Amino acid sequence: MELENNIDVLKGVGPKKLQQLRGMGISRVFDLLTYFPRGYEDQSTVAAIGSLRAGEQAVISGVLVGLQEKRAGRRGMVILTALVSDGTGTLQLTWFNQKFLKQKLKTGRRILASGKVTYSYGGQGQLAMTQISAYEIMDEQAEVEKKCGILPVYCASEGITQKFLRTLISQLLAAVGTEQERMEAAAGKTAGGLAVPEVIPDSVRREYGLLDRLTALQAIHYPAHLEDVKQARYRLAFEELYLIQCGLLLLKKRSQEHKQGVCHRVNGYQVQALLRSLPFELTADQRKAWQDICSDMERTVPMRRLLQGDVGSGKTVVAMLALVKTVENGLQGAMMAPTEILARQHFDSFSRQLSPLGIRVSLLSGRLTKKQRQEVYDSLAEHETDIVIGTHALIQAEVSFAALGLVVTDEQHRFGINQRALLEQKGARLPDVLVMTATPIPRTLTLTVYVDLHVSMIRQLPPGRKPIRTFVRGRERRELIYKFVLEEIHKGRQAYVVCPLIEMNEESRLTSAQEVYEELTGGIFAGTACGMVHGKLKAREKEDLMQKFYAGEIKLLVATTVIEVGVNVPNASIMVVEHAQQFGLAQLHQLRGRIGRGEYASYCILVSEGHTEAARQRMAIMESTTDGFLLAEEDLKLRGPGQFFGAMQHGLPDLKVADVEQDIDVLLQARRAALASVDNHEDMQLILPALELQYREQFLHILEN
Ligand code: ADP
Ligand code: MG
Repeated sequence: MELENNIDVLKGVGPKKLQQLRGMGISRVFDLLTYFPRGYEDQSTVAAIGSLRAGEQAVISGVLVGLQEKRAGRRGMVILTALVSDGTGTLQLTWFNQKFLKQKLKTGRRILASGKVTYSYGGQGQLAMTQISAYEIMDEQAEVEKKCGILPVYCASEGITQKFLRTLISQLLAAVGTEQERMEAAAGKTAGGLAVPEVIPDSVRREYGLLDRLTALQAIHYPAHLEDVKQARYRLAFEELYLIQCGLLLLKKRSQEHKQGVCHRVNGYQVQALLRSLPFELTADQRKAWQDICSDMERTVPMRRLLQGDVGSGKTVVAMLALVKTVENGLQGAMMAPTEILARQHFDSFSRQLSPLGIRVSLLSGRLTKKQRQEVYDSLAEHETDIVIGTHALIQAEVSFAALGLVVTDEQHRFGINQRALLEQKGARLPDVLVMTATPIPRTLTLTVYVDLHVSMIRQLPPGRKPIRTFVRGRERRELIYKFVLEEIHKGRQAYVVCPLIEMNEESRLTSAQEVYEELTGGIFAGTACGMVHGKLKAREKEDLMQKFYAGEIKLLVATTVIEVGVNVPNASIMVVEHAQQFGLAQLHQLRGRIGRGEYASYCILVSEGHTEAARQRMAIMESTTDGFLLAEEDLKLRGPGQFFGAMQHGLPDLKVADVEQDIDVLLQARRAALASVDNHEDMQLILPALELQYREQFLHILEN
């Protein structure tokens, strides 16, 4: 039997079970072997029946002294009640609708069972065991002792019971056979049982003190002592992270093997001219990032850099410099933005800044007509465009460049790893790559998702920026808040009102955008130009509205979180967030980044019920800091990595054991080991088949070449 065999090679798995197991993500032997317990049930101590108390979870062992079958209810549910005695007392064991048990439950036989102790129904203080989670029927006391131990608890599901999973997995573990058998099988002497090859090289195992794979698998399912789980878990988490890191590093290595990178010269006339034409000096962080980028670009090895910086910290101008640098070298640059509106904004500001320098900028977006698009394709292929700014439209097959030198992707988390790769493939040589993100990504996540990127950070905001003042207020203050908003609008400013949901529903009594919009336009803002955007609008309608807000035709914009990414309206200086406690901190921070982009004093007012202490605490953090990195770390702590990770389109496999936040040390170790292994031919012999088996989809690119 092999790990990649379908699960129906196992006894007890027919077509129906096969279907149900598939539903749980288990289709191959490997999937079952790595279906890890979510907890354990300690059956190593058998309690005396006489000492049991109602309400406790217990394991008992005794002899069957009586059996009763009853029918109850309209549907005739079968209730089996067995009476068990162990010399210290008697206990009723009750099963519902398990008629088949009747054959097995013969008086005089010995039974081992675990479950919950309760008072028996109508039995005057007599104790019973219900919700029996495990039982074994045996003949000998010796057998009972052998069976006692720590049992795995799996996530069961419809049709696939705990007991079934235990049986199936122990059957699998038994099939692995002894060390002796395995060695014989390996030597070709016997057919052998299940082969579970080691995937971590010996040297790595020795260095990090890792259990061998089989021992770890055995111990995580059936540990002799609970303490053993820790070692097993460590080994398996390491394995998981190590393999993924190897995959990512190989991906990077392979993509660079066949093609040459682009080597840029030191900065010349156009870059200098752009620097001189900027109405400001670069901040220290911007200068540092720009230096990092220059030295990367001036090497033949392709640049792969992540530029992290809070919203409004001035990443775009750094990207512009890099794009001009590539143009100055006779090459073309491409910048991919996550939304149509952002692409247009970038296009506008780039054209304004760069046409005096003789640089030709084009826009490629889904909104162009077929003819217009064709014109852009042609001008790229014929090198009549120097810099193209666009949306996903840039990765279409029709797009090809005469001489692609640099690819910039803005707000990377909206694109998957594969999309980034698609754009990078569009040149004859490997272009330099700059990825920008305004979502502050905690270090742990940077290491997993962006393993192949070097990081530059812009932490300080440009000088002279009026800081955004944040206030948390209760709902009773709404009237006053909106009066203040109206005053600011009369002074010429614009405002956002952000709401968490677009429709009222029965369960949650949250104010919807719709409702807030009606309330405001029907009342205090009756004479004000208002608009509403939400996710259910067509892209076109949404963009038109945003465009009107951008142009100042709309003064007050009621919105759901669709405004989160990248909208730049410097005149908008106020934001009211309704039901602010519904949002994550990182998200609130992103939203808040929409204001404070101009010369005006800006206000963010978080309207919050703050029923719970946790909600109050979270809101207080928003009031006290505007440091996006700090907020991201707090968010991660408060909400856990699942949500944070889930919100990003990272294209990485789900982790079965490891936890990127808690296992940061393991991740660092695995990364170090992986760095050495990808250059080691022997190590690769172990790793490649494992990648093929476990992460084929993610690393298709390296496996098929
Ligand atoms: P990001 O892309 O990081 O969100 P932007 O590049 O859009 O930030 O910058 C926000 C605003 O700050 C822009 O209007 C930009 O012109 C301005 N800006 C950028 N760098 C500086 C600087 N060093 N000094 C003053 N203003 C700056
Ligand atoms: Mg930006």
